[in-house]
Amino acid sequence: MSNLTKLSAVEMREGILKKDFSAVELTRHHLERANSLNAKLNSFITICEKDALAQAEATDALVAKGNAAMPPLLGVPVSIKDMLVTEGIETTCASKILKGFIPPYECTAVRKLREAGAIIIGKTNLDEFAMGSSTENSAYGPTKNPWDESRVPGGSSGGSAVSVAAGQSAISLGTDTGGSIRQPASFTGVIGIKPTYGRVSRYGAVAYASSLDQIGPFARTIEDTALALQTISGKDHQDSTSLAEKVPNFLKDLRACKGNGLKDIRIGVPKEYFIKGVDAEIETAIRSAVKALESLGARIVEISLPHTEYALAAYYIIAPAEASSNLSRYDGVRYGLRSGNGQDLSQMYEHTRSEGFGTEVRRRILTGTYVLSAGYYDAYYRKAQQVRTLIINDFRKAFADACDVILTPVAPTTAFKIGENVSNPLQMYLGDIFSITANLAGLPGISVPCGLTKDNLPTSFQLLGAPLEEGLLLRVAQEYLDANPFNTTQFAG
Ligand code: GLN
Repeated sequence: MSNLTKLSAVEMREGILKKDFSAVELTRHHLERANSLNAKLNSFITICEKDALAQAEATDALVAKGNAAMPPLLGVPVSIKDMLVTEGIETTCASKILKGFIPPYECTAVRKLREAGAIIIGKTNLDEFAMGSSTENSAYGPTKNPWDESRVPGGSSGGSAVSVAAGQSAISLGTDTGGSIRQPASFTGVIGIKPTYGRVSRYGAVAYASSLDQIGPFARTIEDTALALQTISGKDHQDSTSLAEKVPNFLKDLRACKGNGLKDIRIGVPKEYFIKGVDAEIETAIRSAVKALESLGARIVEISLPHTEYALAAYYIIAPAEASSNLSRYDGVRYGLRSGNGQDLSQMYEHTRSEGFGTEVRRRILTGTYVLSAGYYDAYYRKAQQVRTLIINDFRKAFADACDVILTPVAPTTAFKIGENVSNPLQMYLGDIFSITANLAGLPGISVPCGLTKDNLPTSFQLLGAPLEEGLLLRVAQEYLDANPFNTTQFAG
């Protein structure tokens, strides 16, 4: 990695303003890394070379004029999960069915990044329609983990995580419906935050499971995470579920409390998240992170979230149910692919959808349609919604009675081998056990790197907060990482 691609976004902006390097130079370094590593890592579906350089030139012209107030992400190279629509740039969701689809409008979060001065390097690889936990379910081939290329980077936002870990962008936007930001962040040793449901507008995020989906950033430092999050947050009249609450200046708040320790913080450790099946090395790493937080002044309390064991089943009913409805729009008429096979309209639909969707997406549509069908709705979908309420109540009670934040593993394993879980979807689903509860309850969650295993693979812990408590999560994560730094770029030397 060149030194320019190791800098934080905050440092990049400062470097451009001080004229240590130009935005064009910075962009070129990132494009060069995006291109040269893509053959190996396959983190990008589209690289926006021409657009990025044109934006960088405009940035340098702005800096040369020197009189305007400079935006917060001035010249910062970012990447975007190919699940977020980008005006004029192909958006595939890693599916054959969207091949060639050029969106006529821009996702709100992407627009906000651009307006803040960021430069889009490209669109990153993912599991098709964000369904998966390994980035293996992509029509564009799997993404590889830069720490060990025989392993997955996690998913579904695997390309985003890798682009940040490998210095192809300083920040990336992903989506998280059931862990798709936090789990790949933990598999690649970067930071990833899923905001509170409604904190960030979902306008222009292709819908997977609308009651669970949230957009959030990946970054290599907590300050960059804070900056990206405050940039994309806020009410948007295009998404009626976006929240009107004032967006804090997360970065300023972080700086104001830096070094103050955690004396006023109670950290809940739920016993239901330390179960059989969690890798011993992960458990050890997490236990020592808990000790480290305690030595920063935090009070550790054991808590119980008694309905955790039903979360996975509820998620794998609710998410496919919503997906089966959301994905009905891909009919061969309105977007992308249209099959030439079939004699009439309904056969055209059938062929387009059978040829266009991959195995996992078809499995979800079938499951979702089944659980919503008359006769099964009460037994599955309604029950799952009732379980969801119980899970929400578990968290409410914990935050009301016992703790300010909750600490858990992100996933039961570190990055697994490519191919290891593909033939066993249930095994793949089980890996989501600790990440899906935050989506079911709409809570914010952050993945924080906390060490390397014997095999030199990153491992992380997860912090969960009450609704709109992202600032607290960032603060605890910052205090931890300041005292226990994790070098996100060490794999590449
Ligand atoms: N792995 C989960 C799934 O396959 C979560 C994916 C996500 O958060 N988009 O549904």
